[in-house]
Amino acid sequence: MSSFQSFSFAGKKALVRVDFNVPLNEQFQITDDTRMRATVKTINKILQDGGSVILMSHLGRPKDGPTNKYSLKHVVAHLSELLGGKEVQFADDCIGADAVNKAAALEAGQVLLLENLRFYKEEEKGDVAFAEKLAKLGDVYVNDAFGTAHRAHASTAIIAQYFAKENRTFGFLMEAEVVSAEKVLHEAQKPFTAIIGGAKVSDKILIIENLLERATDIIIGGGMAYTFFKAQGGQIGTSICEDDRMPLALEILEKAKAKGVNIHLPVDNIITTAFSNDTERKNCESMSIPDGWMGLDIGEQSRAKFKEVILASKTVLWNGPMGVFEMSNYQVGTKAIAEAVAEATEKGAFSLVGGGDSVSAVNQFGFNDKVSYVSTGGGALLEYFEGKILPGIAAIKGEGA
Ligand code: AMP
Repeated sequence: MSSFQSFSFAGKKALVRVDFNVPLNEQFQITDDTRMRATVKTINKILQDGGSVILMSHLGRPKDGPTNKYSLKHVVAHLSELLGGKEVQFADDCIGADAVNKAAALEAGQVLLLENLRFYKEEEKGDVAFAEKLAKLGDVYVNDAFGTAHRAHASTAIIAQYFAKENRTFGFLMEAEVVSAEKVLHEAQKPFTAIIGGAKVSDKILIIENLLERATDIIIGGGMAYTFFKAQGGQIGTSICEDDRMPLALEILEKAKAKGVNIHLPVDNIITTAFSNDTERKNCESMSIPDGWMGLDIGEQSRAKFKEVILASKTVLWNGPMGVFEMSNYQVGTKAIAEAVAEATEKGAFSLVGGGDSVSAVNQFGFNDKVSYVSTGGGALLEYFEGKILPGIAAIKGEGA
């Protein structure tokens, strides 16, 4: 596939699917514009080439058609600011007369934002007629919304069939996400360590199973580790545990053994008496947590052991915190992992951090520019690493979705 950079938009109307699903406060001010900033480079490239840009996005989850609360008009002023003061036109519908007329009149160098796609239920249903109407607005289709790449919605996947292969492409953001994810899943240099944390085993089963086919080492931390301890006969006190997933945990350990994948579980934990930052804390071996105590972070020996594994790796994937990092007394483990991943990256490893909480952790601890890539896609990235074909990627590449 040719790169987005080599694509020329001169004289073209580019219909760009972006993810402007930003959080707004009660005064409709944007409280986090990360997703908008992430697509500025793509928009500017099209404009500099001499093309025009028609932006389409969803915002929130409107249930009953158009409402002021979910109108994309609230982001127009900020978008204009991000584009250096450029005027941003707004169509009060995404397929109606206003959209058609404004798109038709758009000149090179101009930007038009369409109203929320999800004001039509056809968007999430992946309706073909709706997708075709959207497609008619532009000459070229650009998908730069990695956050919705796992959805087969009209604007993220179905629409692509109305553009010839040479007239559809990823934008810079989507391209970077896909390149990084492919590098880890399909071209990983070994040793390849996957660090999987977070609250529940049930959320991460599919990703672990797929990684058993690819990784040399899997570090399992966070709340999910306690299901593994209990399944092996350990005492876990009042730590978080999914009893019904214990057989699955044992199955994972057996499969890993059969495949020669090293599973690294914490050998010790920081335990306390309540889910609180202020209760008494101590370090404790994993398999013998006393009654009335719960593990909320990995312990000292685990941090050292995990660091050693990470530093020996050439490829690192990290999803999920090692403990309740939202509380200052239980963020040591997650911070130690962030440091180790940064150090491994400095030594030449490729590191990808993705999926909600691990991204907030690297940002919070200031490590976001010390790892190779921080993904913007939560659910999309997880599904990618579960081995699923993402409709948004397949549609551009022309593979079956
Ligand atoms: P996830 O969204 O599955 O990645 O889970 C992230 C959440 O797991 C965070 O909010 C953490 O506070 C939580 N978590 C991590 N370790 C533990 C633990 N030992 N006990 C309870 N919750 C945990």
